[in-house]
Amino acid sequence: MEQALRCNHLKCRTQLEDSAVVTTCSHIFCIPCSDSLGLSTPTSRTRICPACEAPLSNPDDAVISQLNPSEDYKTSVLSGLSPNTILECAGRALNFYSYQTNQEIMYQEYLARSLTDKYQLLSDQMDNIIKDANSQIRSMNNRLDALQEEKRKLEEKNERLAEAYRNKGKKQQEALRL
Ligand SMILES: [Zn+2]
Ligand SMILES: [Zn+2]
Repeated sequence: MEQALRCNHLKCRTQLEDSAVVTTCSHIFCIPCSDSLGLSTPTSRTRICPACEAPLSNPDDAVISQLNPSEDYKTSVLSGLSPNTILECAGRALNFYSYQTNQEIMYQEYLARSLTDKYQLLSDQMDNIIKDANSQIRSMNNRLDALQEEKRKLEEKNERLAEAYRNKGKKQQEALRL
């Protein structure tokens, strides 16, 4: 399965469909990025590759490439060249493609690593929150136990006082009857 290349401007990374600007330092950009980054309209000063900062001083160092070439273009593009030149062009284009796919793999690996790190951080934070909450629940439970114990003691005391009061009343009535 062939993977479409993506614009090498990291803030863009648009999947490239029809045409794109390719550089001799093996980078590729969508047309809007190429326009905004100064690749398509060279100013007087030397063009610089936005991805690797290589100087692109020759006119063919950055050119528009048709990514879905027509049949007649495929027929004519290398026609007239010697077999050596044809193979050289094909070899360089294959190097370009393999460099791009390697860069994409490295980028995806980097993303995976940073997602794993973020997940680990969140998971640690979550663990701490749960630990804090559990210790708060424990200390509230202890306090509740202490309050219940206090209430029980007060009820006992109340019961004893009521009992003493009843006894005192009985004794008074007995004294009155005598
Ligand atoms: Zn772009
Ligand atoms: Zn470059």
